[in-house]
This record gives sequence, C-alpha cells and structure tokens, in this order.
Amino acid sequence: MSISVERLTRVYGDFIAVDDLSFEVAPGEIVGLIGPNGAGKTTTLRSLAGILRPTSGRVRIDGHDLVGDPLEAKRRLAFMPDEPHLFEYLTVDEHLRLVARLYGVDDFERRARALVNELELAGKERSLPGALSRGMRQKVVIACGLVRDASVLLFDEPLTGLDPIGIRRMRETILARGRAGAAIMVSSHLLHLVEEICTRVIIMDRGRKIADGTVAELASRAEGAAGSNLEQIFLRVTGHDPDPP
Ligand code: ATP
Repeated sequence: MSISVERLTRVYGDFIAVDDLSFEVAPGEIVGLIGPNGAGKTTTLRSLAGILRPTSGRVRIDGHDLVGDPLEAKRRLAFMPDEPHLFEYLTVDEHLRLVARLYGVDDFERRARALVNELELAGKERSLPGALSRGMRQKVVIACGLVRDASVLLFDEPLTGLDPIGIRRMRETILARGRAGAAIMVSSHLLHLVEEICTRVIIMDRGRKIADGTVAELASRAEGAAGSNLEQIFLRVTGHDPDPP
C-alpha cells in the first residue's frame, strides 16, 4: 500500500483532533477526505506529511514508517497545504528550482515548463509572490509539490481560491496523477468535485472516520440514502439531513 494509517491519534493539549483513524490508499486511488469544519482533515493530512507527530498510531508511506524512517518516507510524498505560504523574495521559477534541487529532480527545465503551462502560470515565472493573486500563489504551491516525482500526493483544499477554469484544470491535473499511479488524498468542501474525481471517499466528523467507500457504497450503506449524491450522503451521515427518512 502506498499510504497505510493504523490507529492514528493526534491530540492538542487535552483535545482529541484525530481519534483512532485507520485506512489505506493504494497506488492509483484518489481518496476524498471530507467532513465538517474542525473534523480533523488538515490534522490528518499534516500527520501523513510528517509535519505533525502522531500522539499514537502509525503512518507508513510506501512501506516506510514516517517516524522510524522519515527520510525515505518523506522522499516519496508531496504535501500541498491550503495556506499558500511562499518565500517573499523568490520568484515562481526560483521556487521550482529550489524544490527541484532539494529533491534532486532530473530534467527540471522540461518538467517546470510543462507544469507552468498545465497550471496556467505562464508569463509569471519571474514574478514574486507579492505580485501574484491568491489563486496563483496556490497554484505555485501545487507546482512545487508536483515538480518532483512523488508516489503519494496529499492535497489540502487544492480548489479553494481557484476560478472555475482553474478548478476544472486542477481536476484534470489530479486525475492525470492518479492515472499515472500516484496514491492521492484530496480534502475539499466542494463535494460535487470530490464525487467527480475520487475513486473513494472518507468522511470524518469530530476526529473520527464515520464512513469510507465509493459513493455508491456509502449511498447503499446510509439508511434511506440509496441513489443519493455525495452532498446528500454527507448531510445524512453527519446528522445534518434537513429531511431524514
Ligand atoms: P476545516 O474544514 O475547517 O479546514 P479540518 O477538518 O481541517 O477543518 P483541523 O484543522 O484538522 O480540521 O482541526 C481539527 C480540530 O483540531 C479543530 O477543533 C481545531 O480547533 C483543532 N486544532 C487544530 N490545530 C490546533 C492547534 N494547533 N492547537 C489546538 N487545537 C487545534
């Protein structure tokens, strides 16, 4: 398995943000991580990226334990956070070069050119972050994650701040990486897009996993939700259904 999470728990002080979470993601799978605000999605993704140390439990990336063997595990993953923090004095091109150098990327020029075109950043290569819109800064963060070959891609809210065309293109970008065999997790509140691109969905609420499966599986499991779309399933399983069965 590309991602293996076993009984992950993460506590802040005495608050349990992620509670006994287990799941696996295989190569080529695109798993949507959804849930209400504060459900623990970002905490989960940051724990999978090795930014937060789990309070207990275990995360393995391509079989490498994130705590016991962090270099090998982190070499294989790219985390694209929802906050587009960039270096103020580095241009778009310099950001990509920095990441490429840190990770020893071959064939940088070709990859960078392709990514800049794919993410519609052409013409902005020499711009500093301060001269980019929020959506463009978000695309730079994503380009930095994709400029190297990672087999595990973790996207935290990759669609927020993008215009409708950007959202469409990002959808294609994520699908293409899935087809190429990456194991992908995407957190988002845009449920129709999650439904379109994800092979599987995990729903979290108050730190716990409350559903895991394809949309069709979730619909058949949730009482009275047969034939429902993801939004209706979400409302039902999180107890916010305005029209319960
Ligand atoms: P959203 O949809 O709003 O982005 P989320 O599902 O990503 O939410 P998290 O950001 O993982 O949720 O937060 C989960 C819970 O952990 C929340 O109750 C939050 O207040 C709490 N939390 C997150 N970071 C910290 C922190 N550094 N210290 C204390 N509590 C935190």
